[in-house]
Amino acid sequence: MKMLETRDLTVGHEKKPIVEGINLEITQGHLIALLGPNGAGKSTILKSLSGLLAPVKGAIYIHGSDLSRIKRKTLSKVLAVVLTERLNAGFLTSYDVTATGRYPHTGFLGKLGAEDKTKVLDCLRVVNAEKLAWRYFNELSDGEKQKVLLARALAQEPELIILDEPTTHLDVRHKLEVMAILKRLSREKGITVIFSLHEIDLALKSCDTAILVKDGRIVSCGSPEKVGNNEVSALYDIDCAGYNAFMGTIEISNSGEPSVFIVGGAGKATGIYRMLTRNNVGFCTGILHENDVDCHIAETIGVITVKEKPFQNIGLKAYREAQNLIRETSLVVDTGFPIAESNSFNRKLVLEALQDGQRVCTMRDKKENRQLYGDWADEMIYCHTAAEILQHCDGTKTFHDRRERLKSVNSE
Ligand code: ADP
Ligand code: MG
Repeated sequence: MKMLETRDLTVGHEKKPIVEGINLEITQGHLIALLGPNGAGKSTILKSLSGLLAPVKGAIYIHGSDLSRIKRKTLSKVLAVVLTERLNAGFLTSYDVTATGRYPHTGFLGKLGAEDKTKVLDCLRVVNAEKLAWRYFNELSDGEKQKVLLARALAQEPELIILDEPTTHLDVRHKLEVMAILKRLSREKGITVIFSLHEIDLALKSCDTAILVKDGRIVSCGSPEKVGNNEVSALYDIDCAGYNAFMGTIEISNSGEPSVFIVGGAGKATGIYRMLTRNNVGFCTGILHENDVDCHIAETIGVITVKEKPFQNIGLKAYREAQNLIRETSLVVDTGFPIAESNSFNRKLVLEALQDGQRVCTMRDKKENRQLYGDWADEMIYCHTAAEILQHCDGTKTFHDRRERLKSVNSE
């Protein structure tokens, strides 16, 4: 039996539907991310799943029982909710706030037994907040508060925790820490965690299942790898960036006229791609095996990429294609890609560019370049950082343009 199930569920406010046709089956111990643009209905879904908002239509089942028929106290032993609403805890310490999570087990005003007290401290420890136990909750930072609220949820000893935007207002360290804690709870304690999150790449890197909500319905549901790249971009109407499920990253698009050819491989080019994109320099790249990190990133950025099939030596077709592109650009970058038999054509591309009089920036040292390119190593432009390469991107579109310009300068 599924931990949580919804059948033909419509959620909304005052009978007005916000999201319709929700059919979910959620497995014990999974980490589930609810993603979608502002106003899509994520909070409405989470409140409904928490039993705080009655469904407009359909039903929610927890372990096969209709949620609307489960008694509050019984429910609070199964389900804990962490909402965005700010909690004013008066003069309560973090320990006190966490201890209120014991109410399903003690009664709301019930006294905590010795075992309860140990459990409260354990919960604070699990979320790395034991040091905060005796501090006033109201005096904590947002990140610290969020951890204490997580501890309070844990103190209920629930099977399911529902969190609405648990990382809002947190700095990056606390965002990562909260996600790491949630992951640990699902892995080690088998707790099912359902959360909504603004940081889509963080969510997709952490969750087992992503549920995409838009335009009043669930547009996609599945593992982050299965949820399509285009679906994620479409979810937020993003057209200035791309999402890559395999890499779990969002990349800003680059549609600039290519003036640089980057010879990459094994991730050596990724930093350079991003730096050039940030600086509005168009480029093309190759020759990359389709399963290479650089290839994934280049395609997500949306630049022309010369590719070869995985686990094959780079062939003549790709080589010719790259040669043609190099002729159309005014700068070649040798990123320091590792050279093997399978990509020996890449070394050849760089060498030929040098012999042709192209400007070539290199990230290798001179000793290595001598071994690879002989005396041509002296003709290369040595760069230690991606930013140094930028200084050599002079905006001339093509090698041809540049030659023409040099000719006219020389004849003056
Ligand atoms: P999200 O969490 O995805 O940003 P919400 O679930 O908060 O979206 O909101 C979805 C829609 O429901 C919005 O159009 C919002 O205006 C509406 N809504 C939210 N809360 C209420 C409420 N209490 N009463 C009526 N409408 C609401
Ligand atoms: Mg919301």
